[in-house]
Amino acid sequence: HGQLGLGTSRLIVSSDGPFVVDHIEVTENADSQGHRLVVDLLAASDREFEAALADQIATTGSTQTTPKTDRLAGREASHEDRPFVIVLDPGHGGIDGGAAGTRGTQEKTITLAFALELRAALQQIEGYSIQLTRDRDLFLTLDERVRIARQHEADLFISIHADSYRQSGVRGATVYTVSDRPSDAESAATAIRENLSDAIAGIEIEESKDDVADILVDLVRRETQRFSMRFARTLVGQLSQQIDLINNPHRFAGFKVLRAPDVPSVLLELGYLSNPKDEELLRDAEWRAGAIDSVITAIEAFSRGRNGAGG
Ligand code: ZN
Repeated sequence: HGQLGLGTSRLIVSSDGPFVVDHIEVTENADSQGHRLVVDLLAASDREFEAALADQIATTGSTQTTPKTDRLAGREASHEDRPFVIVLDPGHGGIDGGAAGTRGTQEKTITLAFALELRAALQQIEGYSIQLTRDRDLFLTLDERVRIARQHEADLFISIHADSYRQSGVRGATVYTVSDRPSDAESAATAIRENLSDAIAGIEIEESKDDVADILVDLVRRETQRFSMRFARTLVGQLSQQIDLINNPHRFAGFKVLRAPDVPSVLLELGYLSNPKDEELLRDAEWRAGAIDSVITAIEAFSRGRNGAGG
């Protein structure tokens, strides 16, 4: 903040990601001298940010905002002429190591290796744009991961993890989608463990202020959920041909990282670091390559469905 000249001052706000100005007003203070400036900024996609900037340039001096409903509805039109956007999210990172194996393998290391290898393999295929929430050993909050998916207007978000369980005999991969009602007690416990990520890093957990009151957002959320379920089923089908899965491998629970209302999202637990056999496989690049093959086949089937006739 600084004074630009007599009667004019400038306030600069810098942000880690694109945003839009949702609301701006200047009000006179009731009990004291002066005025106060109230600005509501919302996280947005790169495209929305560019549009808002263009708007602002066209109407210099005034800050225009797009109505909320347009922001969600405006997306469909752009689907046709752009690549299929995949955001890969290697779980944990930095101060948050995630689960640990008996041989000392850290979940954050496995998830990053898998995501980097998956990205490299996807880059060989035309028509995909691949983004990573992190490409190094870095801590990100769960909200930040969701924000990055929305920033890129992802068509698919895959969060990659490796679980741990008190019974070391449990092994195999699981595919999760989000739900307020968990499919079973173990899934509920897994979601609680994964959601602890923010707390481990000392980030205060607030109840997320979902815009559920908005009926349009609710509709979008429901449609997104259908796509998430479809991809999860496809992924389970493909993985089952290549690697071991647990019983009922498509499960659901309240994972925070899967809560983007407009991005089909799944969380893939590749296996259990608490199981020596799984830990060995997760460390094996050849095993990972097999799993990556299945993920890619599932992505190809899903993206064809989205870009084509659907159904
Ligand atoms: Zn995890």
